[in-house]
Amino acid sequence: MTHERATVTDDRSRADVLQRLARLTDPDIDDLTRTLDARVALDQLASPALLVDLDGTVLDANEQVLGLGVERDALRGRALWAPTLWDSDDPTLTLAPLIEAGAEGRAGQRTIDIGGAAPRPGRVSLTPVLDDGRAVAVLLVELRGLTDSRETDELIAATTQALAAAEDIFRAVAENTSDLVCLHDPTGTFTYVSPSVRRLLDVDPASLSGTHPVDLAHAGTRDALVQAIQDAGRRGSEPTRFRHRLRHRNGSFRWFETAITPILAPDGSVRQLQSSNRDITEQRETEQSLIKQAFHDELTGLPNKALLIDRMSHALAVSARTSQPIGVLFIDLDGFKTINDTLGHQVGDTALLKVSERLTAIVRPGDTLARIGGDKFVMLCASTDGARGATAVARRILDAFAQPFVLEGREIQIGASIGIATSIGAEDPTQIIENADTAMHEAKHEGRGRFAIHDEVDQSLALERIDTEEALRRAVHNNELRLHYQPELDLESGRIVGFEALVRWQRPDGRLVPPGEFIPLAEETGIIVEIGRWVIAEACRQASLWRVHRTPEQEPVRIWVNLSARQLGDLDLVPYVERTVEAAGISTDEICLEITESALMDDAQAATEQLDELRRIGISLGIDDFGTGWSQFAYLQRLPLDVLKIDRSFVSGLVPDHAAATIVAAIIDLAHALGLIVIAEGVESEDQLAVLRELDCDQALGFLFSEPREPAAFEAALTAN
Ligand code: C2E
Ligand code: MG
Ligand code: MG
Repeated sequence: MTHERATVTDDRSRADVLQRLARLTDPDIDDLTRTLDARVALDQLASPALLVDLDGTVLDANEQVLGLGVERDALRGRALWAPTLWDSDDPTLTLAPLIEAGAEGRAGQRTIDIGGAAPRPGRVSLTPVLDDGRAVAVLLVELRGLTDSRETDELIAATTQALAAAEDIFRAVAENTSDLVCLHDPTGTFTYVSPSVRRLLDVDPASLSGTHPVDLAHAGTRDALVQAIQDAGRRGSEPTRFRHRLRHRNGSFRWFETAITPILAPDGSVRQLQSSNRDITEQRETEQSLIKQAFHDELTGLPNKALLIDRMSHALAVSARTSQPIGVLFIDLDGFKTINDTLGHQVGDTALLKVSERLTAIVRPGDTLARIGGDKFVMLCASTDGARGATAVARRILDAFAQPFVLEGREIQIGASIGIATSIGAEDPTQIIENADTAMHEAKHEGRGRFAIHDEVDQSLALERIDTEEALRRAVHNNELRLHYQPELDLESGRIVGFEALVRWQRPDGRLVPPGEFIPLAEETGIIVEIGRWVIAEACRQASLWRVHRTPEQEPVRIWVNLSARQLGDLDLVPYVERTVEAAGISTDEICLEITESALMDDAQAATEQLDELRRIGISLGIDDFGTGWSQFAYLQRLPLDVLKIDRSFVSGLVPDHAAATIVAAIIDLAHALGLIVIAEGVESEDQLAVLRELDCDQALGFLFSEPREPAAFEAALTAN
């Protein structure tokens, strides 16, 4: 054997040697193999080496001992401290502590004078051969001759380094690294935790021994940890890497980047796991803030263009499913450059911050406000029906800008020009933004402080709607609303027992607009509350006028007024009804209110409270269009109702023995069982009337008796009543 082969400082060969030696403890290996294996292992080392057991008996030596002038066979079976090798008075003093430490699993070195043919100062290094972390019956002892003291120091340093890097690499690394280094049994339970855990998690390493890392895991990364431990057991010698969080003693969590490496037994099974955990909390914070920086505007903290486009893509995907277009508002400040030029950039920045605050207050949940540069903001309205909703938002923005901004104690008016575009005809986010930008320039051109809508189709639709909305707002003041009345007949007596008041809009151009064309817009914009009040007042006035047509003993005809959901949300509704009835000089049993099922379901709780109040002041209540809403029967019992109106759609299908008749029969029975009066809507034929009579329906209204008409049309009929 020559000295050219692998040297001790070669980590890999040393690790190899140790592994081979550890294998020698396997009880299944016969003595001959054991001896040969030990020899082969020892011979790999460049320096003279001995294998001793825990008592210090030399089991074998390598060829290199010849260099010290000793036959290796002469050493076998002798005690390590036998005088043959040493030029020392009592080698036991030096060597016995080394063996003891080795037996406890610790490596060590000592200087000692080596004897033999050429006595000289030398150094002994001992490495325990570990199995499962414990020293087994063999220890590796290497001898080095040291010539002069300089060489000695170098050699000591080299040997120390070699040792740290090699056999005790784990412990050396574990004890000194800033990372958290641990050993685990194959289930993950800690068997060793490096002292760095004190600094990293503020816990005592000894206290963790026998516990499982899952006890320290953050709920959000616990599964990742459990999975990684399982994977590590399956992946051979490949480390499993993952990121997770562990609890610090102060209750906070630190992020770790962890690699778990299995340590395999000779048979390939996992003997234990070794984990290296690097604290990456700060790194992650930096990463997070970089991500935030990448997607947010530094000054205002609002999303930037990149994030806006991302959100728009999502919104477009949703819009494709719901076929509701998205709306985008491009907002550009008017005269911002002047603020910057005259008051300085710092004031300009403050202005932008204040503008972004005001705009943020307008953004609805689910919508996005972004700053895409300078004084340019973009608002994405995902939850609207395109230009319509966006127009309402634009109005609110302009309203918000009507108030001056206070900058450096001065009130400064900042205006905004807004361009609106929708996804109709433009599928790509960038294109929509461009369209909105074009529209914004149009708004600027038209005189600033206003909005413009990009697409011409959109524009005409939106403008038409805006015109209608404005006209509708004026309709009440301009006295353009009319009430028509449709009589309700008692099916037994054939007399008119009531009227339903139905609103119409008499436009200045002479057109009489039916409620279906403006009630939805009125409900959406809230104008319905005002219209509804007018209807109630007008119906009361009519009731008082009709009083002259009956004798004092006669039951009053009742006027039914339709109430929409929005009105139920008006907290002044009940006092208003009370005041109006009183002002008209009628009593509360002459006016009744009807409301649809779906309106009741909007906010059932609030509805119930309002209805209870109305009932308390003596107003009769009816449920309208029954059967078209949710048809949940449970609420019929809970609500303070007097009347149930069967929807026209059931009545129109009425012929004897038909399914519709069965349904109507069931509804009538149900209503009667609950003590409600049943009114059938939309009776158009004698046949329908006959079936309703047969089914014991109480009252009916429909074109068969009369269409809704102006009140004067019923004067004669009322007198005859
Ligand atoms: P509604 O309350 O169910 O009113 C009944 C509607 O059916 C009326 O339509 C009436 O003209 C129509 N109708 C009555 N009998 C027949 C018939 O035999 N055949 C057919 N085909 N139709 C018949 P109108 O006046 O166009 O009202 C439509 C809806 O507008 C009303 O439905 C009601 O929901 C709403 N509405 C009307 N006036 C008001 C109001 O003052 N306030 C509120 N909130 N809604 C109102
Ligand atoms: Mg009605
Ligand atoms: Mg109805």
